[in-house]
Amino acid sequence: MICDYHLHTEFSIDSQAPVRDQIEQAIRLGMDELCITDHHDYDSAFCGLDFSLDLPAYLEELRELKEIYRGQIRLKIGVELGLQNRIRPYLESFMKEYGEAFDFIIGSSHFVDRVDPYDEAYWQDKTFEQAMGRYFEVTLDRVRLLHPCFDVLGHLDYVIRYAPVPDRAYDYEPFAPVIDDILKCLIEKGKGLECNSGGLAYGLSEPNPCRKILARYRQLGGEIITIGSDAHRADRLGYGFDRCRELLLDCGFTRYTVFNERKPVFLPL
Ligand SMILES: [Zn+2]
Ligand SMILES: [Zn+2]
Repeated sequence: MICDYHLHTEFSIDSQAPVRDQIEQAIRLGMDELCITDHHDYDSAFCGLDFSLDLPAYLEELRELKEIYRGQIRLKIGVELGLQNRIRPYLESFMKEYGEAFDFIIGSSHFVDRVDPYDEAYWQDKTFEQAMGRYFEVTLDRVRLLHPCFDVLGHLDYVIRYAPVPDRAYDYEPFAPVIDDILKCLIEKGKGLECNSGGLAYGLSEPNPCRKILARYRQLGGEIITIGSDAHRADRLGYGFDRCRELLLDCGFTRYTVFNERKPVFLPL
C-alpha cells in the first residue's frame, strides 16, 4: 500500500481523529510508513478558527508514538504549514526553531486575501475565472518567496474543491501560464508537488491538482511527488490511492516520494 503523506489528527482543529486510530488504520491497510501532517496555519484566526498547532505537545506525542509503533510502521513527523507572504518573518523563525524537528513539510495555500475559498464569500465578488486565477497567482507569489519553508506544495488547485460550479471541474488552459511558473519554480528550487486524493471522497473526479497539472509537472522534469489522502478521520486514510497510482503512471511517473529528515526518498509506484 502506498504510504500516506497527508493526514490530520485531533491536533488539527478540524479533526477529531485520535492519532493512534490513524496509525492503527495505516497498519491495517498495510502501509510501511505514514507521515502525520497536522495543520499549522499561523495567524489564521480571522477565519474564525485557530489552525495553529501546539508544536511542543505535537512533537512530544509523535516522537513517543514513533517509538511505540517501531517495528509495526515507520511513523514520520510532518506538518501542513499554511503559506501567506505577510507571515514570512514568522515562517523564517519557525524554520530556525523547528525545521529539523520534522521529516517532512507540506506548504499549502488555504487563505487568499484573508478568505478561505471554502467560505462562500470568496466567490461572491469575483467571476469564476477571477476567483480561480487569483488563487493561482497568490500561490505563485508564495512559492517564489516561501519555498525555503516547505518540501512539497500541497493540493495546488485546492480552490476548485469549493468552487460553486456543478461538477467542480475546470478548464486548465486559461491558467496554464501561471501554473507553469509555479511548477517551474518548484522544480528549480528542488521542491516537490503533492497528489492529494482528499477531494475524491467528496465527489471530485480528479485529485488535487488535476491530471493535466500532474502530467505537466512530469513533462517539465518534475520528479518529487508525494501522495496524500488529507484524511481527517481514519476511514478516509489512503482513500483513492489506486486511482492516483494509475493516474500517475499514466502521466509518466514510475516512482513516488517519501521523506527522511526532509530529504526525498523514491519508492516504486
Ligand atoms: Zn490543506
Ligand atoms: Zn490537509
